[in-house]
Amino acid sequence: MSGTCHRCAATLTGDEKAICMKLISRNTREFYCLDCLGEKLGCGRGPIEEKIRYYRESGNCVLFR
Ligand SMILES: [Zn+2]
Repeated sequence: MSGTCHRCAATLTGDEKAICMKLISRNTREFYCLDCLGEKLGCGRGPIEEKIRYYRESGNCVLFR
């Protein structure tokens, strides 16, 4: 599994990879940093950061531990 952003080659955190699986596809081979993912989805990074926080706090997603 690649550990860098598909677009800007930034090093990714576990959270960033996890949210890519959530928002793109569980089987995605392309991972993006929050900035590039936000741009790709057209929503900016803010809502994505909120989703990460939500999944972490809800504690019921296996991708966020
Ligand atoms: Zn990037």
